Amino acid sequence: MGSKRERVIPSKYIPEVGSHVETIDGKNYLIANDAMYAFYRRTKGELSEFFLALRDEKRLLGCKCSRCGLVRVPPFLTHCPDCNFAPTKIIEVEQVGVMNSTPPITHFATSLFQHIAPYGRGRVIFKGADTAMSVLLYTTTGILVPGIIKKGTEVKLVFNDERIGNVADVFCVPTSELRKAQIEKKCLLRSEIDWESPVEPKLPAASAGDVAACREILKEMRSIIDEMNRNERARKDIAGWRRDILVKTRGAEFGIRIDDGKIRFEEKGPAAPDFVMVCEDPRTLLDGLAYRGAITDSVINKKLWLSKNMEFNTIFKLDRRARSIARSKKV
Ligand SMILES: [Zn+2]
Repeated sequence: MGSKRERVIPSKYIPEVGSHVETIDGKNYLIANDAMYAFYRRTKGELSEFFLALRDEKRLLGCKCSRCGLVRVPPFLTHCPDCNFAPTKIIEVEQVGVMNSTPPITHFATSLFQHIAPYGRGRVIFKGADTAMSVLLYTTTGILVPGIIKKGTEVKLVFNDERIGNVADVFCVPTSELRKAQIEKKCLLRSEIDWESPVEPKLPAASAGDVAACREILKEMRSIIDEMNRNERARKDIAGWRRDILVKTRGAEFGIRIDDGKIRFEEKGPAAPDFVMVCEDPRTLLDGLAYRGAITDSVINKKLWLSKNMEFNTIFKLDRRARSIARSKKV
C-alpha cells in the first residue's frame, strides 16, 4: 500500500543501538547510546508491603526464613533459597545499624538526583537483620566529605517528613551526630534533626603577615568578581540564584552575595547568611573563581568547608561561572 506510519519521534532522531570506542590520552573508552529516562508506571509488586510500611508506618521490614532464621532486609524473598524454598515471614527490624562498607559519595549526580546531592550510598546491616540494605547517607555536620561515614560507622535510619513509598524516603546519619533520645526514638523524622548548627572547622590565629596577604588576595578576588559581573555568559550561570554567603578564612571574614546574575563582594559578612564557607587559605577560593582549579574539587579535598551539604549546588554554579569567563576569553 506504501502508506508510512508516522512515529512520535522521527527515526532520524533515534540513535543507533550499539557502541563504539573513543580513545582519549591513549586510553580506550566504551561509548554507548542510551536513553536518559522515561516516565512510566510500575508496581512495587511483592515489595509493596515493605514500601508501604516505610511510607505509612515508618517501619523497616525484613523477611525471616522459617527454617534457618536468616533475616533479609529488604524482604526481597518470599521463600528461602538456602532452605529448599522454605517460606519466609515478614518481621520488623530496628532502625539503627552498622555500615558494612565505606560508602562512596556522589557529588556530581545525574539530573534525576542532583537535588539530593551530594549523598553517600552504602550498605547498612540494621539490628535484627543478617543482610545489608542499600541506603542514602548524609551528615548533619555540614558538607558530606570522605571520612565522616566509614565501614563500621553506626548509623540511624531517618524518615523524610513527606514520603511516597520509595527507597529515597529514608536515609541514614551517623548516630554520633545525634542525641541519645533521637537514636532511641523509633521513626525519627528529618525535621526532628538540627541541620542548622554544624560545627565549623577551627581556623588558626592569623599573623599580621596573613592579614596583609589576605588583603592582596581579596583585592584580586574583587577584580575577578567585577569581570564576572560584566560577562553576560557568566551572569546567566547564576540567574535566579540568591545566596548570602559568609566566608571565613585565616586573615579575613567577608561576604559574598549572589543576587540573580550578579555577585557582590562585601567587606562585612552577612549577619544571617544562607550558609558559611570556611577555607583556611583564601587563595583556595580565589583560584577557584579565577578558574585555576575547581572550587568543587577543593570541597571534596576538604580545603573548603560548607555549613550546608546541599549548598554544594551553589559551589557548582560558581565553578560554572568561572568556566564561562575562561571560555569567553578563548573566543
Ligand atoms: Zn533459610
